[in-house]
Amino acid sequence: MRSDDEGQSLPVPAAAYGHSDEAPRQQEPAAERYKKMYDRASALARIGVWECDLATEELTWTDGVYDLFELPRGCALDRSEIVTFYDEDSRRQMERKRAAAIASGGSFSLDVKIRTAKGNARWIRLTADVETENGRSVRIFGTKQDITEAKAAQEKVQALQGELIHAGRASAMGAMASTLAHELNQPLAAIANYAASMRRVLTKPVVPPGAVENGLKAIEDCAFRASAIIRSLRALPSDAGWLRECLDPTAVIREAASIALSGASKGLVLKMQLGDGATILADPVQIQQVVINLVRNAVEAVEGEDRREIIVSTGVAGTAFELRVDDSGPGIPPDRLQSVFDALVSTKRSGMGLGLSISRTIVEAHGGRISAGNLPGGGASFRVTLPLA
Ligand code: ADP
Repeated sequence: MRSDDEGQSLPVPAAAYGHSDEAPRQQEPAAERYKKMYDRASALARIGVWECDLATEELTWTDGVYDLFELPRGCALDRSEIVTFYDEDSRRQMERKRAAAIASGGSFSLDVKIRTAKGNARWIRLTADVETENGRSVRIFGTKQDITEAKAAQEKVQALQGELIHAGRASAMGAMASTLAHELNQPLAAIANYAASMRRVLTKPVVPPGAVENGLKAIEDCAFRASAIIRSLRALPSDAGWLRECLDPTAVIREAASIALSGASKGLVLKMQLGDGATILADPVQIQQVVINLVRNAVEAVEGEDRREIIVSTGVAGTAFELRVDDSGPGIPPDRLQSVFDALVSTKRSGMGLGLSISRTIVEAHGGRISAGNLPGGGASFRVTLPLA
């Protein structure tokens, strides 16, 4: 404890300075030293201290607060004028909190926006503590700190987050649009094919009985399928929107495979080896989409090959339902076996590279797995497993 401070009673721990035997400092009055330290600290932290007498509304500021408001240090302060430096909204909040603190003898803190005497916008963190005497609020004491830089950084982060959310939404919508385009391509192409073949039938002198009726029915089925695709894609973002029903996948697969074959050139052999008795919990439209994607890829893979054969087989392996689509095409290069499931990976001239990525999303959302491999005798083999209901 130091005692050479000309009547000042402030205790000064020797360790506070590190060199308790430093002669010039020892001679400096403690109060002055404290003031210097305070001034330095408050300039560094851009903070000032204020006090307001509640009976007279008289304000006392340290230099730090004058500096924050860019007012000449020591100038006369009138509270009714000072509050006009506050932004309207900040002033309202501050007055509300101040009144509540005075009523309860409590304290508060608030970030307020001001415009300084020189017209600069600043964010200030205000803290206030009401002092009471005999149960009556008599004074408010507090600090004001410049937090403009911190606020600007925070606003920047918020703006960036906003942009990120926007970009995320835009890319999700982009993915949705590509998926829709990809999935709708198939029923629309089938509708065009059926319409073209009906036109051919109608040019014949004798129209076979039922031809028009069958063609129109096929077109109608494709149109319903297209609208079911749109419905199921709309439900994609919310899991609750997904349809889950107990179904025998055989009928769904048979129908999907024949849809995928529409438009395939003559000479292609499709073998269906479908076991029965399995039940899965699934959205039929989405399972159809997977099968259409796999069979459509197989059709395109065997195009131009001497032997054009596709085998769609199903069975039960342990607790899973298994679907395989094998083809007699050129197969998948071994280094591509994994990446074929990535979005936008395509070796086709007009391919979108989305079919397998969508299929994987659907299969995994059903708790299943999808994998690609090659057959020993050549050709690709895709395997889907889905949990049995
Ligand atoms: P896309 O058919 O639009 O290219 P997919 O995601 O359905 O998109 O397929 C991605 C890629 O995987 C294809 O471009 C092709 O290179 C490869 N692929 C898919 N199925 C087969 C298959 N049965 N045989 C050989 N390659 C295949």
